[in-house]
Amino acid sequence: MRAQQYPYLSLRPMATKVRVRFAPSPTGGLHLGGVRTVLFNYLFARHHGGDFVLRIEDTDNTRFVEGAEQYIMETLRWCGMEPDESPAAGGPFAPYRQSERKASYMQYAEQLVAQGHAYYAFDTPEELEEMRNAFKSAENPSPQYDHRLRMKMKNSLSLGEEEVGRLLSEGVPYVVRIKMPEQETIGFTDMIRGEVSFSTSTVDDKVLLKKDGMPTYHLAVVVDDYLMQITHAFRGEEWLPSAPVHLLLWKYLGWSDAMPQWAHLPLILKPDGNGKLSKRDGDRLGFPVFAMNWTDPRSNEFTQGFRERGFLPEAFVNMLAMLGWNDGTGKELFSMTELISAFDMSRVHKGGAKFDFEKAKWFNHEWIKTAPAERLLPDVKDVLKTADISAVDDSYVKQVIDLVKERCTLLPDFAEQAGFFFKAPAAPDMEPVKAKWNLDKTLFFTDLPAVLEALPTWNAIALEAAFKEMAAARAIKVGELQLPFRLMLVGGKFGPAVFDIAALIGKQAVINRIKKGLESLA
Ligand code: GLU
Repeated sequence: MRAQQYPYLSLRPMATKVRVRFAPSPTGGLHLGGVRTVLFNYLFARHHGGDFVLRIEDTDNTRFVEGAEQYIMETLRWCGMEPDESPAAGGPFAPYRQSERKASYMQYAEQLVAQGHAYYAFDTPEELEEMRNAFKSAENPSPQYDHRLRMKMKNSLSLGEEEVGRLLSEGVPYVVRIKMPEQETIGFTDMIRGEVSFSTSTVDDKVLLKKDGMPTYHLAVVVDDYLMQITHAFRGEEWLPSAPVHLLLWKYLGWSDAMPQWAHLPLILKPDGNGKLSKRDGDRLGFPVFAMNWTDPRSNEFTQGFRERGFLPEAFVNMLAMLGWNDGTGKELFSMTELISAFDMSRVHKGGAKFDFEKAKWFNHEWIKTAPAERLLPDVKDVLKTADISAVDDSYVKQVIDLVKERCTLLPDFAEQAGFFFKAPAAPDMEPVKAKWNLDKTLFFTDLPAVLEALPTWNAIALEAAFKEMAAARAIKVGELQLPFRLMLVGGKFGPAVFDIAALIGKQAVINRIKKGLESLA
């Protein structure tokens, strides 16, 4: 078949615009490594004014997991990385789910067979198993379907033409395998690693098309990167071993000139640097490795996400970007806009990046601290609602946020740090001040409400002045009065400046809490 006969090909203009794709298989939740791959794709696309495509690689039916695609889309949305083209958004190269493109792959498999770069293989699963047992030896402990064994198997290279014709006409199921050259060195220039080369001798004859006519990942990824005019393909380092198969497919299909530039992103490592970070490390060490909560519908296994743990997407994205990249100036805090303008693939490190949960929390704290109250408002209201704290007045909630945000590392911290602005402490624990309590202090707090009532202006400065003046008049050290005052208002030894708290919760609430505090001390 000639290229012009393929419908997609005739549409193909010269690709000048940057086009990248994130191509997940819908097999479960997205963990850090996956989201970082999206992020680097996204940053690169936006930096170059290009397109960011989401393509769902669902050719492996046995690994398909219900809900995974929705989860992936929701994660991208939460992180602020909306694709320009996707199954949901559509686009000029739709469909964006490989299962819906099934019909378009067969012709390329046939083309490869016709040109001698691939062949039909009729072996049954039992025969394959037999091969693995029969050819196992000290020098070849796990025999593969490759140049050493292919002529001993049942395929269109080893069988006569007539026999092949017979099997095909009888409808005997077959797969199409690539015919890997016996001894060839092939290579490419990786944007991160530079020159990378492989010897084809160790790579087996991968299946390209399955018995049901569905392509495997290897064929589908090459065909779709070509048809979708992808200019740059960034993916995890774990895909590097597949590169020789893909390189040959680009070559055999006659598309070498259109091959995207590849970058294989370094792994995200366990905190101790010992290998790839896994979901299990998160469970073991008590931190999330998924972007959002995920429950596997097959096993009901639950995995906690950064979102539900109380991370802001801004912080999550910022933290992820710094796992394997920096701008060379020592700057660590970047908004998405800043990342887009600073991102440069040549500054992505070759080595893996160790994940450090404490550092991740540091990013979140920095983001919470500097976020405008307006930005935090919906999240904080959710946190308060979950803690059964009613917060209806937005302008009040925003004032509270500004007072306490510096003390919050994760969003749920707002429940404790802000809760007492909405609800009086149930029974204030006055224990810390009991030992040094005396009659003078009781009288001070008994008389304080009247002084507060009489204040002409209600603000922190006026409150503090009146409080200190009263303490001086009674010769009591202010330091010894502030802690009990805090315990009465807050219910614990924490929170922002006590007069700021008093000013915000209001005169009546302050007076009520003083009375309750005195009762606890009585
Ligand atoms: N479908 C592959 C995955 O699940 C995509 C790898 C690639 O980007 O080529 O990660």
